[in-house]
Amino acid sequence: MNGQAPDCFIEAQVRTDRLHQLFRQSFSAVFGSYMAAAMLCWLCWDRFDHTIILVWLILLAGSTLLRILVFMTWFRCPQSDRTPERWERRYWVSLTLSAGIWGLGALALIPTDDRLSQALVMLFTVGMSVSAVSCYSAYRYMTWASIGLVLLPCTIWLLFQPSSMQVGMALAVLVFSSFVAGATRKLSDALEKAFRLTRQMEHAHNLSARAAQTDELTGLMNRRAFFEHAQRLYDQCKDNQQPLCALMLDMDHFKDINDTYGHQTGDEVLRQIGGVISASFRQSDVSGRVGGEEFAVLLPDTSVEVARDIAEQLIKAIAGLITEPVLGLTASLGMASTLTVGQDLHHLMNTADKALYRAKALGRNQVAVAP
Ligand code: GH3
Ligand code: MG
Ligand code: MG
Repeated sequence: MNGQAPDCFIEAQVRTDRLHQLFRQSFSAVFGSYMAAAMLCWLCWDRFDHTIILVWLILLAGSTLLRILVFMTWFRCPQSDRTPERWERRYWVSLTLSAGIWGLGALALIPTDDRLSQALVMLFTVGMSVSAVSCYSAYRYMTWASIGLVLLPCTIWLLFQPSSMQVGMALAVLVFSSFVAGATRKLSDALEKAFRLTRQMEHAHNLSARAAQTDELTGLMNRRAFFEHAQRLYDQCKDNQQPLCALMLDMDHFKDINDTYGHQTGDEVLRQIGGVISASFRQSDVSGRVGGEEFAVLLPDTSVEVARDIAEQLIKAIAGLITEPVLGLTASLGMASTLTVGQDLHHLMNTADKALYRAKALGRNQVAVAP
């Protein structure tokens, strides 16, 4: 991608990061919420209705299995399929189902005449809400919804009980949960900001790395980047015992173009040459502007005959360029192959360069192949 990253691109990445964070953070909550329910039932076994306990635990087991299924599908699917569009809704449905069963089950279980059980139920629901912050904070609405679903049924019920102790307990829970809700907002804001900054920095880094490697005028690799990539390609071809051809291209009488039509026209011609070069080669080839009006290309796994044909085509394409007011553009090209020059990259490029001078000496507008 060129230029400034559009905001929507960064936003899409931030949304994906949040989703990944949610899945990373909340796996333990799937088991934690079931364990908490089982523990509450165990603690209050003698005080709760056993039929309600059974129904509650069975329903919770169902929703827990559903959540495990969601996680298993997530872990198994390829990275490219882990998109917010596909997963946010699934996660949201399974979470609200599980939190809803938890909160309504707790309400069904809470005994009307036993303060200790009521306090224990409230203790567990408050504990669940605090855990929700640590698990779902990437999505504030999910945190708020799960807290509300778990906490509110019992709290609202308590709020309408006759005893001032019960009302006081409900009010205390509401005050605690308002702090938790506030912390959720701050935490999810901070997370989102961190994701956004990371993505913006990553993008800025990519841009500057690309700018440092690109020749501004032609959009090809600059000299330094060309030789870095060239060395890598050279080593790769050597390891794989593949032939590598080097082409050195120099525009003919370019000084005359500048002198006749001006530097700006000369620049425009170079820009167009850059376009021809990038359109003429494969993804696996390495090309760059290595000097003022000099270009170099490396063709891996290419025989001398094929490389020569490609070079001739390039010369023809340049001759066919219409760059008003310049007429009759030509270039000379020198070629060398590792099949005949076997020392190192430096030697290969030098040999191609010597062939280029031979092409110039032979009258320009032609390809010369190093012997
Ligand atoms: P030859 O056929 O022998 O190569 O002749 P030439 O005039 O092309 O060769 P020479 O090396 O003498 O001149 C190259 C010219 O390219 C000189 C310089 O003004 C011009 N040049 C180098 N870089 C740029 C550039 O970025 N823009 C423009 N407009 N001209 C450039
Ligand atoms: Mg030159
Ligand atoms: Mg020249």
